[in-house]
Amino acid sequence: MTHDIDKDYLLDTLRACVEVESPVGYYPEAHEWLRGVLAEMGCEMTVDNNATVYVRVSGKSSEKVVCLGAHLDTIGLVVRGINDDGTLRVRQLGGINYHSIEGETCTVHCRDGRAVAGQVICDHHSTHVFDDARSRERTEDTMAISLVADVASAADARALGVTEGAVAGIDPHFERFDNGYVISRHIDDKAAVAVLLDVLRWLRDSGERPAFDTLFAFPIYEEIGRGGSWVPDEVDEYVAVDITLIGPDYAGSDEHSVGVICSDAKGPYDWELTNTLIACAQEACTPGHWNTQVCFHYSTDANAAALHGNDIAAGAFGMACMNSHGRERCHVDALVETERLARAYVMGCGR
Ligand SMILES: [Zn+2]
Repeated sequence: MTHDIDKDYLLDTLRACVEVESPVGYYPEAHEWLRGVLAEMGCEMTVDNNATVYVRVSGKSSEKVVCLGAHLDTIGLVVRGINDDGTLRVRQLGGINYHSIEGETCTVHCRDGRAVAGQVICDHHSTHVFDDARSRERTEDTMAISLVADVASAADARALGVTEGAVAGIDPHFERFDNGYVISRHIDDKAAVAVLLDVLRWLRDSGERPAFDTLFAFPIYEEIGRGGSWVPDEVDEYVAVDITLIGPDYAGSDEHSVGVICSDAKGPYDWELTNTLIACAQEACTPGHWNTQVCFHYSTDANAAALHGNDIAAGAFGMACMNSHGRERCHVDALVETERLARAYVMGCGR
């Protein structure tokens, strides 16, 4: 098995993907983008009723079906009301850190198809105007979207197409540095989407066949915990490719590494499958650039799939991501290590 991985493809695809709007449950643009990328590769995609996209690749053996999932959705906001001054009251979609998005631009996707630029602001927004602008707690009740338009009333906002139930994506502000670092919102989980697309590209170009029939899945509800709530009956193993963490509890993890998640907020992953993933990392990844983790503050679609009663073994791994759910930071090395692990798993390493 070759390990040539095109770093430019990974970063270009990551950039293209983060620039496609896909806050939780808002899939039209992401599906259109993915359909185009997959069509160029000669891959067919199917979509289930839960708006999860699948690409199926036949393996050497049909003894079992394995599934690798990378979620398309990002954290975002849904409009829950419109204030008298035309600012929009919101509710979080996923684990928003309001401090991190203050001042950030966003796009409000209206139900009639229109899109309106917005900015996330605090109600006590300016140090020159409010004595407590620094100290006021940033919560769902103090933060709002201010439309970037001449809006002074709820009627003005509604005239632009905004209603309760419109959703907002936070602008990614992708920055790529010459030394391989990337800073952008939504590296979670679009870096994994880029990795899986490159695995598909590699399968096509190399003529390699997976060890088992393999589904590549792209759900759109991970950030609210149900992207893996339904998995096709044929699937025996569901492996989420999602961010791993950097910080005091994550020894050996940095932006150059891939982590195998052994347990998370919802409990342990399947013992044997996780050991298989560890064996894949030992075989395929750069020594010192992989680790095992217990991600006890979050969970993935694979554990969601198990918890919702699907008859699957669950596993998870992915690129380490700094400053998660903020302006996230990663390095292309972590994407490369993640792809090495993904290819090894697909090819049946460690069995
Ligand atoms: Zn994620």
